[in-house]
Amino acid sequence: MLPIPIQKTFTYSVTKDEASFLKRGMRVAVSFGKTKMYTGLVFNVHKTAPTLYEAKEIHQILDEMPLVNERQLKHWEWIANYYMCSLGDVYRASLPSAFLLESETILFKNDAFSDESILTDNEFLIFEALQHQSQLTIHQVVAILGKKKVMPIVNELIKKSAIYIKEEIYEQYKPKLVKYVRLHADYSNDDSLGKLLEELSRAKKQREAVLGFFQLSSNKKPIKAKDLEEKTNVSSSILKSLVDKNIFEFYHIKTDRITFKGDTNDLKVLNEFQENALSEIKESFKEKDVTLLHGITSSGKTEVYTKLIQEVLDKGKQVLFLLPEIALTTQIITRLQFYFGDQISVFHSKYSMNERVEVWNNVLENKTKAQIVLGARSSIFLPFSNLGLIVVDEEHETSYKQFEPSPRYNARDSAIVLAKLHKSKILLGSATPSLETYFNAQQNKYGFVALNRRHGNVQLPKIELIDVKEKHKKKEMNGHFSDRLLKLIQEALDLKEQVILFQNRRGFSPVVECKTCGVSPQCPNCDVSLTFHKFKYELRCHYCNYQRAMPNSCGACGSNTLDNKGFGTEQIELELTALFPDYKIGRMDLDTTRGKHGYQKIIGAFEAKEIDVLVGTQMLSKGLDFENVSLVGVLNADSMLNFPDFRAHERAYDMMVQVSGRAGRSKKQGNVAIQTYNPYHQILQQVSTTNYAEMYKEQLQERWQYKYPPFYRLIKITLKHKDYNKVDSGVNWLYKALYNSFGENVLGPTAPAISRIRNQYIKNIVIKIPPKQSLANTKNQLTKIRNTFDAVKDFRPIRFIIDVDAY
Ligand code: ADP
Ligand code: ZN
Ligand code: ZN
Repeated sequence: MLPIPIQKTFTYSVTKDEASFLKRGMRVAVSFGKTKMYTGLVFNVHKTAPTLYEAKEIHQILDEMPLVNERQLKHWEWIANYYMCSLGDVYRASLPSAFLLESETILFKNDAFSDESILTDNEFLIFEALQHQSQLTIHQVVAILGKKKVMPIVNELIKKSAIYIKEEIYEQYKPKLVKYVRLHADYSNDDSLGKLLEELSRAKKQREAVLGFFQLSSNKKPIKAKDLEEKTNVSSSILKSLVDKNIFEFYHIKTDRITFKGDTNDLKVLNEFQENALSEIKESFKEKDVTLLHGITSSGKTEVYTKLIQEVLDKGKQVLFLLPEIALTTQIITRLQFYFGDQISVFHSKYSMNERVEVWNNVLENKTKAQIVLGARSSIFLPFSNLGLIVVDEEHETSYKQFEPSPRYNARDSAIVLAKLHKSKILLGSATPSLETYFNAQQNKYGFVALNRRHGNVQLPKIELIDVKEKHKKKEMNGHFSDRLLKLIQEALDLKEQVILFQNRRGFSPVVECKTCGVSPQCPNCDVSLTFHKFKYELRCHYCNYQRAMPNSCGACGSNTLDNKGFGTEQIELELTALFPDYKIGRMDLDTTRGKHGYQKIIGAFEAKEIDVLVGTQMLSKGLDFENVSLVGVLNADSMLNFPDFRAHERAYDMMVQVSGRAGRSKKQGNVAIQTYNPYHQILQQVSTTNYAEMYKEQLQERWQYKYPPFYRLIKITLKHKDYNKVDSGVNWLYKALYNSFGENVLGPTAPAISRIRNQYIKNIVIKIPPKQSLANTKNQLTKIRNTFDAVKDFRPIRFIIDVDAY
């Protein structure tokens, strides 16, 4: 198996000895074509010579033991088959790049490396060459050493940190340091303590701080400087003066690292509702491998997970905990480490190559350190040998689906298959399950457990809808803020509580919206809003290619106020700063989180209450747990509802319920205010009562009517090329061929809203697969058509992308 997008595997010749040594899942260095060299993976050892080409010899065996196990290979085959991609694509996606050296891999010198004495002669030669030129390819290394067998040497250099490879632009995942206080060593015995308190008898505040310290230290846990300040009501300058006097000292502990040092803690005692949910899940697992936990926000799903995890660990099995976007979830890492300490490994593509290699090896060897793997979607590819449980947290999240590059897999669905291969159980958790999953639970395909109480019996937040149209009429808007929302913000701030303001995911949206009535022009054939195409100044449907000229006035209310500009988070931040000059406003969106550790910085600052009002995009809705947030404001609900996608309504519901769920999590009921032009929109009504069941029923009805998942499956085909005419004739040919096989169930061809990206023109076709139509046959037919397409000389250069279960 080669890490290239070609369907086939390739046969290489090996000696008798090599043949008996090699096993499936071991890596070998091989050459390919005239000049290329790849790290191949042994897929099969056999005695059938290839007929179309002569088998080359392998260069070298790279592993003593398989790096990839049998279950993984089966899983990869399933993924390649289901998502219609090559095994090589899956192979490349699965392994950390350090395992996949190839002739084009670019090597750099690590400037921080100094100990040349640990290098062998060959290693030193390469290292030295890198002093003279800034980079080398593996290819050039072959030339320098005058031999083909260089991969292990390069590997060794990487292991010794003397060099690194190209993709290494990863951010080092820097821990957040938390400040703690302890007593200076001089005061460790009781004698000195009495003396100390005497000394401080006249410094009242300092004395209080010391006394408070002893109260807090009775439970033997490290004491955060912040906690001590709050508890004893002393300022940080008092603590500082005690440090200056050598009475206290500050020290720092990392809060979010893989290497966890310190005690673990007992699991929390579940409340009765959690206890019930737990036993129902266990009961359900007796019959069903997949179970959905539908638990409202802040019901304590995480605590339920921890109990299940503990039981699986006790049986000596591994646990995979999947998270949608790990950058946002340092909170969860910290929480799980609190209980499970260094049995947890975190796996994420943003981690450095060495960290990922380390996790891979730990999982492969089933080390204690890797009993629980916490990771984003790519962690389904790790070499687990005996999974006992997979948890898919926030299973509705669309980021579980990979768009680009191939394999375009859905990690949740692939995890279900992975669980089956391991005879493991899998729990899908969400406050807003995807329609697909909920449907499967309703059909009894999955088990189902509900958890309907917030922990501590805090009520779900009060949600009010603010009619912005009314507010405009009455001149009660200040910029993008209604007087009502401003009042709620002021009230929260007066009580020293924090506020989250949510703005739609993009700064602007290509959907046209009437500023007066909020209505967006809809496609007559599909359940989607039309998209504004600037170039031709027209409106189009992404799904059926319906198009019309951009109207001058709104079809619903007649006003001349059709608008294609939304408003962005930056604008909101500016307005807020002017409105609340005495408070600290923070912003979290793609722009502010792009830099190093952007997320952690902002989340950390908000947790530490350094920010009073946080404005952000949908990143804010993802599973964050802030104890002091009492108000969540949604500035413009309509832009979410009008997004041109058949899932738009479901997503809008998810997003609003999730972001609302950030309010009032710890003590008292929170408030949510949603500004909208359409307070009677069914989705907003359902959000305001958190009526998932009704949302589900209604959306399901529409999916049925308009032939979308979960009833119909979708395969999306995308063609790309820099020559417009080429794509156009290619896509027309393809449409006809598909139409001959699938008739009315082929939609398109359409150009997406952004019809040219990086100078490539894009055209889409969607195939809808009815419930009774065989998926396998459909894919076979599609593959045949694709092969014919590729056989046409003119079409061959066109990029042909297949996305199964496209989002
Ligand atoms: P969810 O993931 O369902 O939104 P969380 O698991 O984040 O909810 O729980 C919400 C908050 O309540 C967290 O701060 C958590 O520590 C706390 N909590 C939940 N269950 C318990 C429990 N049984 N005992 C103590 N605290 C709990
Ligand atoms: Zn209107
Ligand atoms: Zn349409």
